Amino acid sequence: MTYNLIKKKLDNKNTIILDGAIGAELEKKGAKMHNDLWCGTCSIESPELVKKVHEEYISAGADIITTNTYATTPIAMKQYGFNDKINEFNKKSVQLAQDAVKNSNKDIAIAGSVSTFGSLYKFGTKAMMPGFKEQLKILSGEGVDLIILEAMSSQADIVETIIECSLETKLPIWLSISCVMDNDNKKVMLGYNDSIDSDTNVYEDFEKSINHFSKIHNGPILIAHSDIKVTGDAIKLAKKKFNGVLGAYPNRGYYEKPNWKFIDNISPNDYLEYARSWKKDGVQIIGGCCGVGVEEIKAISILKDDKHE
Ligand SMILES: [Zn+2]
Repeated sequence: MTYNLIKKKLDNKNTIILDGAIGAELEKKGAKMHNDLWCGTCSIESPELVKKVHEEYISAGADIITTNTYATTPIAMKQYGFNDKINEFNKKSVQLAQDAVKNSNKDIAIAGSVSTFGSLYKFGTKAMMPGFKEQLKILSGEGVDLIILEAMSSQADIVETIIECSLETKLPIWLSISCVMDNDNKKVMLGYNDSIDSDTNVYEDFEKSINHFSKIHNGPILIAHSDIKVTGDAIKLAKKKFNGVLGAYPNRGYYEKPNWKFIDNISPNDYLEYARSWKKDGVQIIGGCCGVGVEEIKAISILKDDKHE
């Protein structure tokens, strides 16, 4: 499909439902996780399971599904000896999402995930640019409907670099960033703390970061892969600095290489209540990240097409 339906819904101030986790959901279904590339190898080793995850999210009510390409960044693949597989892995992941949409007979958009996975700070941002551009080019070329820059980095200059690399892409670009609570100063900061690919923790003020990114990025900004409770605070701060469309897809649990550890203290219904509160605070796009699965997406799908307050 094209992006038209999503754009129409955004313009109409409707709520859009994203999918939930891919990697963690694959793990739940028994797919083998790679020690370095996490769920990146699943599209090749367990393609049926990847397709199944997409199909389940579509049945649960997602308007948009995301390709399993978060962990198949050229930067990570080169580091871990998958040099010659970059095209194959990324293309296969788009194809699996396309197959799932086709089978559903529904008008579902496909978001290509272009991420900062494996982008170590020590490399320097200049060295990251070819990798970001390469993944953008592959996914755009395969016909995704939009790109989500999953900039799960604690370093603002890495986020800035991936945004800059996206500027020449013709597709709609959404930006995802994450936040953490600095418990000493009781302040929401940019970044995440379960990172396997962050070699330094240069946390920057979240509000300041939003202000900064909004000057170089027009599309929606989503708060992703962050603690559910901190997400609410981050939304309020983002609203002050950004006039565009806001989204949220937090996580639940934590990462312990190479698996996501699930925490079951939040029910799908609790998740719906959180989603309602984010919506009230101005969020128009809602989904889930690691540890948030099909049941949660099903629960929040009743907010779909709701008019934005
Ligand atoms: Zn996540």
